[in-house]
Amino acid sequence: MNAEEFEGEITQFADVILPVPVPRLFTYRVPRELAGQLQMGARVIVQFGKTKIVTALIARVHTSPPKTYQAKYILELLDDTPLVTRQQLELFHWMAEYYCCTIGEVMNVALPSGLKISSQSKVQYNPDFQHPELLSDRETEVLEEIKRHDSLTYDELARLAEVKSVYHLIKSLVGKQAIIVFEEVREKYAPRVVRRLRLTPAYATHEAAIGLMSSLEKFPKQQEILMAYLRAVPLARHPAANQRGVAKTELTGGELSASSLDTLLKKGVFEAWDQIVSRFADDEGRPVVPPVLTARQQQTYTDILSQFQQHDTVLLRGITGSGKTEIYIHLIQQALESGSQVLYLLPEIALTTQIVVRLKRIFGEKVGIYHSRFSDNERVEVWKGILTGKFQFVVGVRSAIFLPFTQLGLIIVDEEHESSYKQFDPAPRYHARDVSLIIGKMQGAHVLLGSATPSLESYHQARQGRYGLVELLERYANAQLPDFKLIDLRAARKQKAVRGEFATELLEELQANLDRHEQTILFQNRRGYSPYLTCDDCGYIAKCDSCDVSLTYHQRDAEMRCHYCGHHEKVPRTCPACGSVKMRTQGFGTEKLEEELGLYLPTARIRRMDLDTTRSKTAFQQIISEFEEGQVDILVGTQMVTKGLDFDRVSRVAIFDADRMINFPDFRSTERSFQLITQVAGRAGRRADRQGLVLIQTASVDHPLLEKIRNNAYVQYFEDELQERETFLYPPFSRLIRLTIKHLEQPLAEKAALRLAEMLTAELGIDRVKGPEMPLVGRIRNMFLYDMLLKFERSLNLKAIKAFILEKVEEILTDRAFTGVRVVIDVDPM
Ligand code: ADP
Ligand code: ZN
Ligand code: ZN
Repeated sequence: MNAEEFEGEITQFADVILPVPVPRLFTYRVPRELAGQLQMGARVIVQFGKTKIVTALIARVHTSPPKTYQAKYILELLDDTPLVTRQQLELFHWMAEYYCCTIGEVMNVALPSGLKISSQSKVQYNPDFQHPELLSDRETEVLEEIKRHDSLTYDELARLAEVKSVYHLIKSLVGKQAIIVFEEVREKYAPRVVRRLRLTPAYATHEAAIGLMSSLEKFPKQQEILMAYLRAVPLARHPAANQRGVAKTELTGGELSASSLDTLLKKGVFEAWDQIVSRFADDEGRPVVPPVLTARQQQTYTDILSQFQQHDTVLLRGITGSGKTEIYIHLIQQALESGSQVLYLLPEIALTTQIVVRLKRIFGEKVGIYHSRFSDNERVEVWKGILTGKFQFVVGVRSAIFLPFTQLGLIIVDEEHESSYKQFDPAPRYHARDVSLIIGKMQGAHVLLGSATPSLESYHQARQGRYGLVELLERYANAQLPDFKLIDLRAARKQKAVRGEFATELLEELQANLDRHEQTILFQNRRGYSPYLTCDDCGYIAKCDSCDVSLTYHQRDAEMRCHYCGHHEKVPRTCPACGSVKMRTQGFGTEKLEEELGLYLPTARIRRMDLDTTRSKTAFQQIISEFEEGQVDILVGTQMVTKGLDFDRVSRVAIFDADRMINFPDFRSTERSFQLITQVAGRAGRRADRQGLVLIQTASVDHPLLEKIRNNAYVQYFEDELQERETFLYPPFSRLIRLTIKHLEQPLAEKAALRLAEMLTAELGIDRVKGPEMPLVGRIRNMFLYDMLLKFERSLNLKAIKAFILEKVEEILTDRAFTGVRVVIDVDPM
């Protein structure tokens, strides 16, 4: 008899995916009570290593025991039905192979942490625990230990309880309801609440209210409030309306006295309660029907559908303000009606804005929102909602590609050129647009890529006929694209027509816009006050201790900050090198521009929107609302102000950093500049009655790229740029893989990089291996960096080449001489 057989039953084994960077599956033994219940894609809890408890995914169930190790038992089965679909597992495999990482790493990024119980999961005493008599002595002991702490992780508990595996103990304590297990979520879900008021039952009839009114004769301010309430809630006609009451803000604005309202609350005339409202649909928002498409938009819509007859992928180039979103909405409706699922991807920043409100209004409960600013609970809700059929349509950021769709009919990738679709860290370093194409193939879904300024890659594909191409080159309702005016900073400097960082001409333009009561967006792609603090006497520059960059001066918080590692310190009063007091800032960021604008345009109401002013969860929405309601004249900001915003009253856009963007040493800098400047320019003049004007302050007014941008000459820019790429064999004429070699010691990093380059060159040839060289920032978080760029002809099949690269990287990593070296592989780097 086979040792694995017992009483005629055959022991089952499961190969599972563990969330670790080891490129293989792990085999566990299925306990007899779970035999026959395990499904592919369901989660199990297993022990990994000596003490770690992790969530794993079942990839395969079989009956052959592992040959080289003794399989441990699966501890628990978490799902009766698969949490991860077969299609997803297939996708995870594809991603691991394509992006040169492990399937465990893919799974780790794919699953919201609320779906991964691990050693980091926490336990806490259940305050409602009622049956201590059920516990064993050992359990009572452990429970006492848990009680002494707010909460403990599995690992901490194992240490305190001095047992190797606390898992069974915890399971038993949970079963007896003595403790609660939870995942710590970084950001707790903060629902938006509105405080509402209504009359208490004693006063909630028309008669009672009238009586109350006369009894308040001596208190006119309280009477006013009661009157305001009765105007909003007509009790005489609708007695039941009192139930809903009014928002407190309605009774406290303007002439009404807040303290009198408090008195009425204390007297028991009014009662207050908090109502939780969706952060998107506003209180009174009802579903609306999408607007009727214009004839031109309708034509575009039918063109897209007919292109889908011949192509899986269609690229829509629609200029800013042409109504792409409206067209998407109609396509989404059509797909939903045919019973398919729909995924609508947006860049992170755009998703926080008005678009979500619009979609919620139209699609109501059908649409799930998948956003990284949301708590984990909400993400789990969307995941499960798709599996149960609650959500047929999801709008989300790049990680939404991991959701368990099985019947996608349409994927829309809006702003497809956006680099935020690329994940930089950790692995998998995927590009959500490219992965969408794969998902589209797997599920037979159409993929629509949309942009005013398509990426060179996508436009090239379309021109080559591999994607369908549809173009919409007029704005909605006859609004015109903005005009451009280049403001020559060099000339202004010569004529001394400069104040602070501003050419006088620019200030005059901004003042004129203020006088017209129209709004301005000012874009500067650098936050903080200034990027350098230097000593006038000895030339010292404040730098980060752990990175090879200068520290940025932040005035409001009086701090020097490293934008690479987050390190921050007090601003030095005197030069740390020579003791001089002549410390001076150099260069400028949003904070400085905000300050100077306040100085030169004293009547302007100015707000800043960048990473520093939007750290709290609601700040972003707050600033957008204020701007929308006209409480702000000038919005100063970084990339955050460039995307998806749709404001009626913006007629001027000012751009500061064009020169630095264009001259950045990277083969994509022209493309990025064209896209970014066109995008931010597109915020201006979106209504027919206001012609927009974009002001670019630049020291190189003759730059050919600026000429193309101001003429909206996308196609010309595309053709010129494409030629450059062809000459130097950059994408779309090649495929790139970047290797970054890191070590705490510079010589070791360099040596490892050179060794790796040598091994790769021997096989791939000198033309395909560029570098290694130190990147622009050569040290981050104390690690020295060396970059190597591998370039491959598009005709090559990279499968074997990637395997070869992984093999060589592995050789470096396991070489004793290179202990501590790390290698990052980035396929299709941006
Ligand atoms: P894009 O995404 O191409 O920049 P949007 O879809 O945001 O353009 O449209 C720009 C503005 O014009 C929005 O305020 C939108 O509501 C409005 N708009 C576009 N098409 C229509 C339409 N057919 N009916 C009514 N409003 C429209
Ligand atoms: Zn000095
Ligand atoms: Zn740093």
